[in-house]
Amino acid sequence: MNPDLMNSDVHERARLMIALFGEERPGPEELSNAERSWLAAHLESCASCREFAENSRETIRLLRAIPITAGERLVSTTQMRVRQRAQELQRQQERFWVVCVCCAAVTLSTLVTTPVLWRGFAWMGEQARLSPPVWEGGFVVFYLMPAVLAGILLLARGTFLTDHNGSYQD
Ligand SMILES: [Zn+2]
Repeated sequence: MNPDLMNSDVHERARLMIALFGEERPGPEELSNAERSWLAAHLESCASCREFAENSRETIRLLRAIPITAGERLVSTTQMRVRQRAQELQRQQERFWVVCVCCAAVTLSTLVTTPVLWRGFAWMGEQARLSPPVWEGGFVVFYLMPAVLAGILLLARGTFLTDHNGSYQD
């Protein structure tokens, strides 16, 4: 086998171990004793991997130092944004469901009540001896009333939500 490739495999293995686990941290879930002593022996004999280990230690130290000042604010603003977005989505979803349920209810009640209402108005028209255009007009007014009321209610609800939640106005 090519000795250069062998060597590069060894260095790669050492650097991978350093990058993933750090070279001095003990722990049963991390490097085994054999791996740790192999890495120590390799670092002893290999200047470039030793440099890599020092660099990675330094990088980790810097990374740990920075978040102390920037981290809390970043984390809290990120959490806030995520929460806001989640709430927005939830509200939109709730509103969507309200509209869906209303539409379904209106459609269902229309399907059920239209023929009944029509026959009722026809019967009342006959009893009152009204001409068909008169009771038909009455039927139309009565028939459109729930839709008009539902529209007003939905509008009022939308206005209420917008007034009480400044974060979404669409
Ligand atoms: Zn090496």
